[in-house]
Amino acid sequence: MKKSSWMGFMFLVMVMFLFPQIGHAAGGGTGIYLDGKALELSKNAQVQNMSGNVMIPIRVVVEELGFNVDWDTKTRTVTIQQSDTELKLVVNQSTATVNGNKVSLPVAPKLMTDTVIVPIRFVSEQMGLSVGWENTSKTVYLTSPDSGSGTGNGSDNGSGNNNGGSDGSGSDSNVNDTANLANVSGISFNNNQLMIAVDKNVKPNIFKMSEPNRLVVDLPYTQFASVFSSNQSLDSTMNGFFDVTDYPDVSKVRYALFNNNPSTIRVVIDLNNAKNYTLINNNDGLIIVDLNADSNDNSGNGNKLVVIDAGHGGSDSGASSVTKKKEKDFNLAVALKVEKLLGNEPNIEIVMTRDSDTYPTLQERAKLANSINADIFISIHANAGSATASGVETYYTKSDSLALANVMHKYLVQSSGLSDRKVRTKSLHVTRETTMPAVLLECGYLSNSKDDAVLFTEDFQNSVAEGIAKGIKEYLGM
Ligand SMILES: [Zn+2]
Repeated sequence: MKKSSWMGFMFLVMVMFLFPQIGHAAGGGTGIYLDGKALELSKNAQVQNMSGNVMIPIRVVVEELGFNVDWDTKTRTVTIQQSDTELKLVVNQSTATVNGNKVSLPVAPKLMTDTVIVPIRFVSEQMGLSVGWENTSKTVYLTSPDSGSGTGNGSDNGSGNNNGGSDGSGSDSNVNDTANLANVSGISFNNNQLMIAVDKNVKPNIFKMSEPNRLVVDLPYTQFASVFSSNQSLDSTMNGFFDVTDYPDVSKVRYALFNNNPSTIRVVIDLNNAKNYTLINNNDGLIIVDLNADSNDNSGNGNKLVVIDAGHGGSDSGASSVTKKKEKDFNLAVALKVEKLLGNEPNIEIVMTRDSDTYPTLQERAKLANSINADIFISIHANAGSATASGVETYYTKSDSLALANVMHKYLVQSSGLSDRKVRTKSLHVTRETTMPAVLLECGYLSNSKDDAVLFTEDFQNSVAEGIAKGIKEYLGM
């Protein structure tokens, strides 16, 4: 999903803020990954939580992206100039400006010693940047729009986004004439539909974001009706939300006056899993974003698509065991057994990234899973390390994969009989670049003579394959 250039620009800005001072690796548990690369954080520049907003120090990110910025110590203003766009942010002020137009922030940037921190949620939604937050490890995963990952889908059913001629640039005084704005008098979620009541025609602009999954609905040329706050929560900064408990796909609906020029309300549907939507806008006073269309995923036959990825293959042997056996052969043997075990399941379709000794690239494996809109992605590997390391690990990257990781790991420990080296988070290509819940299983250590002795036995492989099949079925609710 490509955002317009100012969006990209905004991203850099947010990402900006940190000034002089080169940081050194932090000992702490929090971390930031940008496009899969771990960034070094200084002691003063840690990820933190401020009244429910995860704040990140972004100088490190800026440096990584190679951006420049001006910092005025006296006014504590950051100015970023890029071609004909100028952006200014001020510490402790909850509005930023883009070419003089105000944009509101959920929380003002804060100066922490030598570091400015900004709310991560704002970064993601404003900049079209994918952000993942893994709470256990307190890790932020950032994916820049240009990195070719993310959801890879900017599907926008709500055609054009501009309402009439003006694009809200600068001096046109009619743009914000409140008499011309549509009033939003209510926002609700019922029947698996977001409903927005308006008193004039509005052309919504809708887009999907991942990590976490959500749908963003922008309503240009709108304002909150004066009655809105008497019926629904709306704080003094024009932000509000309500929790959604009756529909499994949705956890919360948030809304805010997101831009002042043109006045734009943004509504965000926080999703529990990626969803498609249909926009129903008949200019009858009700804008509906319908999530029902997607209830029969994929091919419409209700089947779940499971991608089984046998790691390595062909020219890439993977790790080599104590007794010189190859990881790629172990991975393929187990993957084929899983395929066979689930082959007769009526509601599961297995797609293999390879079923022989070939080497699809990591990019091809992720692309395959994304292109068929698979439900889950399971990569099978065996590990190597020190001679004493032994046992099984389950890796995931995105927060929406944690539930799958927990289920798969439970069965991996059980079925392997090896020691439990826990569920772990790591930025691995196939678990990062896939758009569905994805895990990578390390089924034992080839570098350990005890593990190696069992890994290539028929019994062990059958047992682990059965464990993987059980985990898949449990996760899919079958
Ligand atoms: Zn491997």
